[in-house]
Amino acid sequence: MGRPFTSVLIANRGEIAVRIERACLELGLRPVLVASEADAAGCTRPGAGGPLAIGPSAPGRSYLNQAAILLAARVTGAEAVHPGYGFLSENADFADAVEAAGLAFVGPPASAIRIMGDKIAAKRAMMAAGVPCVPGPGEPLPEDAEAVRAIAEEIGYPVIVKAAGGGGGRGMRVVRESAEVADAIAITREEARRAFGKPELYMEKFLEHPRHVEFQVLCDIHGNAVWVGHRDCSVQRRHQKVVEEAPAPGIAPDLAERIGVRCAQACRQIGYRGVGTFEFLYENGEFYFIEMNTRLQVEHPVTEMTAGVDLVHEQLRAAQGAVLETERFTGAARGHAFECRINAEDPTTFVASPGRITAVRFPSGPGIRVDTHVSAGYRVSPYYDSLIAKLIVHAPTREDAIRRMQVALSETCIEGIATNLPLHARIFSDPDFVRGGVDIHHLEKRLREEPRGEA
Ligand code: ADP
Repeated sequence: MGRPFTSVLIANRGEIAVRIERACLELGLRPVLVASEADAAGCTRPGAGGPLAIGPSAPGRSYLNQAAILLAARVTGAEAVHPGYGFLSENADFADAVEAAGLAFVGPPASAIRIMGDKIAAKRAMMAAGVPCVPGPGEPLPEDAEAVRAIAEEIGYPVIVKAAGGGGGRGMRVVRESAEVADAIAITREEARRAFGKPELYMEKFLEHPRHVEFQVLCDIHGNAVWVGHRDCSVQRRHQKVVEEAPAPGIAPDLAERIGVRCAQACRQIGYRGVGTFEFLYENGEFYFIEMNTRLQVEHPVTEMTAGVDLVHEQLRAAQGAVLETERFTGAARGHAFECRINAEDPTTFVASPGRITAVRFPSGPGIRVDTHVSAGYRVSPYYDSLIAKLIVHAPTREDAIRRMQVALSETCIEGIATNLPLHARIFSDPDFVRGGVDIHHLEKRLREEPRGEA
């Protein structure tokens, strides 16, 4: 659809609400901010009115409360809703409700969210578009254990059983031999039924040492779609990304081009709109699609820095029905960028560390970007994700960018609460990480070897 609008309700909080607010102001759009009770005291732009209260601190009663958000849009006269990431951003029913209320949803059509929200449907759509997938059928597993074993034999052990409705790293189980199949299926199916309300499972090859490499895409409503670059997000703990970079190091440009073009093609086939990310596992020089995220991602800034594009501007323009200037996008990266996710958490136990920030100093200088909503005096709430800031650096080469991040981290100081800044300093002095191309298990392996960072 796509329609002009002049005001945007930002149905989110924290750094991403600030990020989207900025983009709205830059495009001459009126941003409307909302806040739960816990966030009501947060810092607002000088001269701007405070955010509109939408409910209690618990997310289910505020940022996930669709009726409260739609009511907030009505009373403020907002004409569009930007969902940010997390919360309602990948909720197809919410996208439908926004459009049904006569507002523009800044995101893909609900139909595309629905396809990608079902991992089996997503895999099937990708296979149809020629996007390489992890070996294994794009079909739900049968009930019969013998038939399932036959599928596993065909793929070859180890395999992974995954819930069609899974998310957040939950609802999957690795199976290494035929004797484990029946139990793995029974447990995962029960989990899937309970956690996602969807019992369908599927099976694919389990890759032992993959990297996580993802492709950013951008689409308009007129059938134009481009890929904007790739990112490496292999530095993870418990499936949570900790550091991201663009471009992913060591990927042959012709291979990246081939995959990127397929992703753009898949977007055209499913009638996609706005920004999206195709996540792949990358092993032994091959890409394997695992899922698509139908929203803006936390790590979008590393692509913005290296592709010279403002993805939130593009997202808003796409929602307004603008024609994408495809010739501006080549997929090629200018220089190298890293992002450190700074969390309010203990750097060795990873336990969340809410509380009041007494003093804060962020780095500055060429090639430095800090996306944050916090300042001195800010109280980090226990109700939400512990992300308090993203430190992003950009430099001509990967080596320069690593040096720049090391210096930037040494300038950063957050007092009053614990943060994972020491973990970031460790990562940026880890020789394997500095060399580039570590797999998704690398950080956890390092943490097991040296839990407290004593070398
Ligand atoms: P979610 O939606 O829960 O994030 P994904 O399908 O993206 O689920 O998988 C999450 C993580 O699980 C991946 O980043 C990877 O670490 C691991 N994983 C998923 N599929 C495979 C696979 N076929 N082989 C190895 N690891 C996998």
